Amino acid sequence: MRGTWRIAKIFGIDVNIDSSWLIVFVLITWTLADSYFPDQYPGWESWLYWTVGVTTSILFFASVLAHELAHSLVVIRQGEKVRSITLFIFGGVAQITEEPGRALKEFFMAIVGPLSSLIVALVFGILWLVVRGFSEPVGALARYLAMINASLAFFNLIPGFPLDGGRVLRALIWGISGNLRMATLVASWFGQGIALLFMLWGIWQVFTGAFINGLWIAFIGWFLRNASISGYRQVVMRDVLRDIRVEDLMSRDFEAVSPALTIQQLVDDYVLRRRDHAYPVADGDRLRGIICLHDVKTVPRQQWASKLVGEVMTPWEKLATVSAEDDGNTVLTYMNTHNVGQLPVVEGDRLMGMLRRGDVIRFMQLRGELGI
Ligand SMILES: [Zn+2]
Repeated sequence: MRGTWRIAKIFGIDVNIDSSWLIVFVLITWTLADSYFPDQYPGWESWLYWTVGVTTSILFFASVLAHELAHSLVVIRQGEKVRSITLFIFGGVAQITEEPGRALKEFFMAIVGPLSSLIVALVFGILWLVVRGFSEPVGALARYLAMINASLAFFNLIPGFPLDGGRVLRALIWGISGNLRMATLVASWFGQGIALLFMLWGIWQVFTGAFINGLWIAFIGWFLRNASISGYRQVVMRDVLRDIRVEDLMSRDFEAVSPALTIQQLVDDYVLRRRDHAYPVADGDRLRGIICLHDVKTVPRQQWASKLVGEVMTPWEKLATVSAEDDGNTVLTYMNTHNVGQLPVVEGDRLMGMLRRGDVIRFMQLRGELGI
């Protein structure tokens, strides 16, 4: 199950939470209220432990968000786009649409995350020093948040890509060598090496009795390893796609449907038979629009026999199209930014082919299997 919910929009950035994050929220609150605070500060009423526990969890969540916002704001200042921030099981991920174009930009983008966590840690640290004499619960909360934010900063400074520290390392190598791919490869090796250490440490903990702790550490290692590998693959993919034309990626094996077709005919003769999600609508080879399953679902079942494809489709004027001459990287970036799964390839208003995200991925897989 993978659900995300949008909870806020800050500086034009969608803030989402992943369903996995809710589990973490409950676990953290429970650990704080049921064991951490009672161990550290005995003698409070039970409701107080829970109130401080929930508040601490929410502020922890806000701290992680501040860290991600710091990254995003730097990216926006640099003139790029940030689509969304998703808070998930290990914290946050800012969806930045394009790999940063220059080493120095990337350096600032990466370093600002741990720095902001350190600043938040410092603020809570000062709060702790000020209030601990007056209020034990507020002091406990501040002390915990100071520690957790400091850990967040140091964890992210580990020089393994794609952690912030790994990005800093990559930016340094990139700046010196001018080679992004090589810099990513080296930073990704560091990432995988560190991931392996985490996994070994976790397994060692499991066998020496700290079962749950060990599983967590091993899991973080495994997660880090996957992220390192896929981060490097993404860079390679962009590198390769920059030199590939849409013409070589698009599929010519598509069936265009007529705008005069009824929805019923479309479903019977195309959707159920070909099992594609979207169909270009064309008169001869002149593109009129696109109809996808989502459009079909907006028409009530009883009207399927009477409504025409031409009335329901997204018309040509509203469609994003690409040219066969465009390069693969630009187009894939566009698809990711605008969250579209397919684009018609046109010359003037003539439909040349369809480019689906799946085509691009298959193309890369085939190249990989052939060792190109
Ligand atoms: Zn970060």
